[in-house]
Amino acid sequence: SQRLLGKVALVTGGASGIGESIVRLFHKHGAKVCIVDLQDGLGQQVCESLGGEPNTFYLHCNVSKEDDVRDAVDFTVDKFGTLDIMVNNAGLSGPPTRDILAEKLSDFEKVFDVNVKGVFLGMQHAARIMIPRNKGSIISISSVASVIGGIGPHAYTASKHAVLGLTKNVAAELGKHGIRVNSIAPYAVPTNLALAHLPESERTEDAWIGFRAFVAKNANLQGVELTADDLAYAALFLASDESRYISGDNLMVDGGFTSA
Ligand code: NAD
Repeated sequence: SQRLLGKVALVTGGASGIGESIVRLFHKHGAKVCIVDLQDGLGQQVCESLGGEPNTFYLHCNVSKEDDVRDAVDFTVDKFGTLDIMVNNAGLSGPPTRDILAEKLSDFEKVFDVNVKGVFLGMQHAARIMIPRNKGSIISISSVASVIGGIGPHAYTASKHAVLGLTKNVAAELGKHGIRVNSIAPYAVPTNLALAHLPESERTEDAWIGFRAFVAKNANLQGVELTADDLAYAALFLASDESRYISGDNLMVDGGFTSA
């Protein structure tokens, strides 16, 4: 059945990885989807592969620029009439170092610009549309690094803790408007971003094989590889009315990694 029939979604970073899987699954379940990203070629391809207009649109949008986010939200409402679901997925990992003496302030700021400022702007502009309508679901992709330290660069971990903080605070504020605000915390998924997280020593000739081996070795749940689709299913649940009483949650999709 089509679990998002009649709903309108905006997905940031929808041109690749987890965002692309979310776009494809939302579309399959009947949502109208506006895809935004910086990678215009890839974003257009995803859009066209789903039949393009009038049910999917692609738009260039840098989530750390307020004008871009405002325009993307307004464009979505203009084309589709409303905004029911906002997915703040776009993210950066920054250089793979975890060395307080080596981590550059400029890299730290770049990660915060996308992972924190981008999520804040996405929440703010979605809320602008959702508050008068008294409904909506805002979903942000955090990470296992939103609740534990020691697995990513300092800026990345701090930024994902901030995503969780924003999720809780905005959920507490917007509940009275019938708006739910949640995040999803993945363990490692084979995407371009994840590859950038690999320690240099694990970047073998075939980095993907190296990545998978590294991830499998460190996973809690054995015999299952986490894929972008697993995150898309979590997003589908949080976007649909099936999760109508869930707000302020950080849904761990980590195979028990943070519990082990
Ligand atoms: P990805 O690199 O495949 O996708 C991220 C997308 O965001 C890309 O298409 C990129 O162009 C886009 N993007 C980056 N900066 C942007 C900006 N300023 N404005 C608009 N778009 C921008 O990586 P992914 O793994 O699919 O990452 C998606 C989200 O999942 C991120 O927030 C990431 O931190 C989170 N996450 C990923 C993993 C993992 O292992 N892959 C684990 C935990 C959390």
